[in-house]
Order: sequence, then structure tokens, then C-alpha cells
Amino acid sequence: MTISPGVQEKLSRLGIRTEWDLILHLPIRYEDETHLFPIGDASAGQTVQVEGVIIHNEVVVRPRRQLVCQVEDKSGILVVRYLNFYASQIKTYAIGKRVRLLGEIRHGYQGMEMIHPKCRIVSVSEPLADTMTPVYSTTAGLSQKTLIKLIGQALHNAEQTNVLTETVPDTIVKRYQLASFKTSVFNLHHPSPEVSIGSLQTRTHPAWRRIKFDELLAQQLSMRLHYRQRRSRGAPVLARKHEYAARFLEQLAFKLTPAQVRVSEEISRDLAAPYPMQRLLQGDVGSGKTVVAALAALQAIENGFQAVLMAPTEILAEQHFRKLYAWFEPLGVRIAWLSGSQKKKQKQITLEEISTGVAQLVVGTHALFQDSVIFQQLGLAIIDEQHRFGVHQRLALRMKGARSDQLPHQLMMSATPIPRTLSMSYFADLDVSMIDQMLPGRSPVMTKLVADSRRDEVIMRIRHACMQGKQVYWVCPLIEESEVLQLQTAEATHANLTEVFPDLTVGLVHGRLSPQEKSEVMDSFKQGIVQLLVATTVIEVGVDVPNASLMVIENAERMGLSQLHQLRGRVGRGSEASICILLFQQPLSEVARKRLRIIFEQSDGFEIARQDLQLRGPGEFLGARQSGVPMLRFADLEQDSDLLTAAQATANEMLDHYPQLAQRHIDRWLGDKNEYLRA
Ligand code: ADP
Ligand code: MG
Repeated sequence: MTISPGVQEKLSRLGIRTEWDLILHLPIRYEDETHLFPIGDASAGQTVQVEGVIIHNEVVVRPRRQLVCQVEDKSGILVVRYLNFYASQIKTYAIGKRVRLLGEIRHGYQGMEMIHPKCRIVSVSEPLADTMTPVYSTTAGLSQKTLIKLIGQALHNAEQTNVLTETVPDTIVKRYQLASFKTSVFNLHHPSPEVSIGSLQTRTHPAWRRIKFDELLAQQLSMRLHYRQRRSRGAPVLARKHEYAARFLEQLAFKLTPAQVRVSEEISRDLAAPYPMQRLLQGDVGSGKTVVAALAALQAIENGFQAVLMAPTEILAEQHFRKLYAWFEPLGVRIAWLSGSQKKKQKQITLEEISTGVAQLVVGTHALFQDSVIFQQLGLAIIDEQHRFGVHQRLALRMKGARSDQLPHQLMMSATPIPRTLSMSYFADLDVSMIDQMLPGRSPVMTKLVADSRRDEVIMRIRHACMQGKQVYWVCPLIEESEVLQLQTAEATHANLTEVFPDLTVGLVHGRLSPQEKSEVMDSFKQGIVQLLVATTVIEVGVDVPNASLMVIENAERMGLSQLHQLRGRVGRGSEASICILLFQQPLSEVARKRLRIIFEQSDGFEIARQDLQLRGPGEFLGARQSGVPMLRFADLEQDSDLLTAAQATANEMLDHYPQLAQRHIDRWLGDKNEYLRA
């Protein structure tokens, strides 16, 4: 098939490079041009095709310049408006011309109307389409007509060379009553006349279900294959001696919850196996993931291996370091700290401790990726807030410990709960452990939505809380467009609140402070010297100050759900009943209103995540993962969860019993997109 370079370039913008891509470029919707609708019967909201003669045609200038025509058939008259039009169109749509229009009917000033319908001049008794007309997603300069032609050719070629054969074994096709692949592809591009437009539009038609199943299956196969390949590599066997662990647990001020015990067991079992662990530890904010990580690290250490814990921000990394230092020092475990801002000399010492194996646990930030960091013997890499790191970064850390025949174990932690359907699909290459239980003594946080106009009441509340010895966070608005502006806002807020509360100590923490300045501020907040802490969203992750029981979030309507949930999780960590006040600015957009309602009504991170997924799709949850995993174009995780379950079971069965078909299926669906690295 010869395609001009210009068209090729436009196709590649749609992600179409091969004939297969064309075949799988399925319609985004359909238009019903198979019959004509009497104008008189049409009601608002319907999308219909009508035909009639133009009986009136004028350019009006009010309320804005537009071309207005009237089209009449036997049953009535329809007004047609063009807000943007070419001068030539005035002639084309001359009185007396017969037109066929397709569009949505609306109520207008002068009765029913269509705005910018699809319009064609026709002759009397011009034949109607006998199948639904597919509409493809396209890009500027590439017409539907061209796409239809190219896809038609690709289908024709595929037919000739007989490549649309089944990749799914017969038994499975029967078990799930799937339509044949080939029939499905043809049916979706050229629906037969008897297919109802409803099931095509809602994508519930058997042809759609088959395509969605295949798509989900390709994703499962690819991810499970990676999972299996990784498992075929060796890893250090970190036996469960439980010596350090026993002493560690003894000195802890609290008892582990059953959920913590359970996930620790799962991790411990993995570490003792001769292939690399690849586990995602999920738990809502404040569910106690750090202790679990500490136990895992101890298991590596008591087997003579090193462990590393990496966190995405300096504040969080340092907090981990201090906590772990206090926990591990009594055990005689040597723990080192590495960050980008360290003095050269200090860093040199740390690097040496890491390379000689003196440092048994290393805690740090991105600085850990640097080439100069060489471990003597890395057994376990732990990554906190994993979604903040890219695939390549995680891989880089893992490679630090790689030997020809071995990879270190990897534990990823995430406080952004991932809905079940998402972890079944996009996270299918990982094992997942879940802490599904809150810690004892955490008090529920009451959430209040307050319009910004009532700021004064909030100020009173803060004064009252501080007088009772409580501590308060004031979170400044997120200004995505400009970090400078965000900083200015934080500084202005700090100055303002200092003035409003002359008798309180008001602190300020933001991303531009040096790490040392940051930790000084956080320290004085922790010790209660600072009562009111003005902060940018840098405190979103991991910060733990139990005495803080009131949080104010400004411009909450700008923030995403998971971010709000994370921020809110910073309070309610002590015994005090805690309050989170979400200040919002009116007017609220539709989405912002929905988000605020969800965060107001829900406190369970998983439920929030589930609703967030519905609101925004999977992109936000995946973070950097997005570039690494096969994305879904057709299947909808919520609507098609039955197909997801079927695809999951099928993938394992095919990898076990039909490896060649499995490979063909992956090639068909993912082609070169399957060549990604997986950390
Ligand atoms: P997250 O899951 O958000 O990372 P952390 O590990 O920071 O949570 O734990 C939050 C706080 O709860 C910490 O101060 C931690 O020491 C404490 N904690 C952890 N497990 C328990 C437990 N079983 N009982 C009481 N407190 C606990
Ligand atoms: Mg944490």
C-alpha cells in the first residue's frame, strides 16, 4: 500500500504506523445515515438525518454574524445555523437546493434547529447508506474519507493475505462466547445493516466485546510475560532468621496491626525465594507502611546484604532516616544518609561506606541513582511513593544491585490507593500487598467545605485551636503554571498570617528552601515551637506530626482528589479529633464541584481512588508508568470488569499452554510498543 509522506506523517500523529494499526483504528462513533427522519417528528436532543429543500437563506449579524437557512420537508421546517462559514457556502445553500443534513436537533428561537450539521447537496431520490457510517478519530488535514479509504485497503489486504486469523484458542473463544476476531473487525468498520446503532455506540455489541477482550488480553499477556521473565532471573535468598526483627519489634512502642503482620509475612516469604521480589505495598496514608519496610530491610541485613530506601523528596527522606536511625541504632545496624545537598566531603564518606558495605541500610533521595553510588552487595531496594519515580529511575536503582545472574528484590510503596480494576490491569506485572486496616488511635478527620468569602471565621478557628495548644497546617494554593508565583503566594500568606497572629509563631516551608532550612522548620513544628505552619504542597507526602490537628487548604478546588486526600492525611495522626477545612473560590466548575463533594463525603482512600478513576481515567494513577505499560484504548475498566477477569485467567492459561499463540497475540496488538523496560 503506498501512502504519501504527508499522509504518513498525519497518520503517525494518530499512532498509526502499520497496516495493523489501521485495522485496529476502530471508529469512535457511528452516524446513522440509513434512513431519513421527518422534520416534523424530530425532538430536541436527537441526532438524526433529515432531507429537505432550502426555502430561506440569509446572513444575520445578531447576536453574531451567521448564516441561517430554513429547510423544509413534507412534515415541517428546520432552521439551520452556521456560525463559521465561507462566502461560497451562501451560494451553495441557495434557495431551492435539496440538502441532506445530519446533526443534533435543538430548541431555537424559531422552532427546531440544527447548528453546523453535516450537510450535503443531493438530488431527488439519492440512495441512502445501507450501513452505519463509521466516524474515526483523526487529525487536522486528514479527512474521514481518506481514513475510510486507507482502512478499507488495509482490510482488503489483510483478507487477501489471510492474517486476521484467531490468536485465541478455540476452547477459550467458546468458554467466553466470544465473536470471531475477523468478523468483529469487519463488523465494527462496516456494520451490517441489521446492527442497531445503540449497541455500537455503547460498545456493548459482541464485536466490541471481542475487541475489548483481545485488547485486555494483550495487556495481560505482555505484563505477565514480563513478570515471568523477571522471575526467571535469580535473586539473593534472604532467609527468614527473624533475629533482628524480634529485637526490633520488642523495642517498638506499639504492636503491629494484623494487616501489617500479614503484609510483612508476604514480603518476608518473597525475600526468602531465589527470584527477585517485585511487590507493591499499598496502604492508605497513615496505615503504617514504614515499619513494614523496616522489617523487610532487617531481613536483608541479617543475611549480610545491604538495603536501600529511596524517597521522592528531601523532607520525606530525612524523616525516614531519622525514624529508622532511632529504630536501628539500638540494634547495632549501621545506617547511612545520602542526598544531593550533602557537602562533598560528607558525601564522599557516605559513598565509601556504601561501597565497602559498612552502611547496611542507605536512605536517600534521587541522589542514589548517581553513578558514584556503588553498593557492595545490595539485596533489597525499597521505593517510597513509587508513583513519583519513573520506570527508568526504578530500573536504575535496581541495576545498582544487579549481578550477572542476580537482581535485588524490590519493594515499592504507595499511599495513593489504586482501585482494584487498575491494579488488575495496569499493575498486572507486580504482586500487590495491601494494608487494609487503619492504625489504632487514629482519629477520623472531619472535613468542612468553606467558601473563601468566610475566611474570617477560619482565622477565628485557628486562633482558638492554637490557644488550646493544638497545631495547624495552612496549605497554600497549587499554582501549576508558575513555581515562582506559588512561592510568592506562600510568602505573602506567611506575612499576612504573621500579622494576623502576632502572638503565635508562624513558620513557612516550601520547595525552594534548602534542605537544611526545611528540616529546621519541620523540626520546630514537630517540637511545637511553631504553632502555625504555612506550607506549599511539599508537605503532601509522608510528613508525620501527630499534634497537628487542624489543616486549612486554600483553593482546594484546584487540587486533584488524591492530592487532597494525601494532604488531609497529615492530620488525624494523634488522639485529638482533627478538622480539615477546604477553602474554595467560587464559581466552581462542574468537575471541581464533583471532586469537593467526593472528598467531603469519603474518607476511605480506596473509595476516593475508585471515584477518581471514573472522573479522570487511569492516566493520573499511572504517573510515569504511563510510558511503560500498554495503554487501553477500547476497554473500560469499570464497564468491562467481567472481560478483565476473563482476560486475566486466559493470559495465564495461554502462557502455560499456548505460548506461540500468546506471542502472536502480543505482536498483533502491541507490535513494537512491547519493547519497553520494566523496573
Ligand atoms: P504511612 O503508611 O503513611 O507511611 P507511617 O509508616 O508514616 O504511615 O506511620 C504513621 C505513624 O504511625 C508513624 O508514626 C508510625 O510510627 C506509627 N505506627 C505504625 N504502625 C503502628 C501501629 N501498629 N500502632 C501504632 N502506631 C503505629
Ligand atoms: Mg509513608
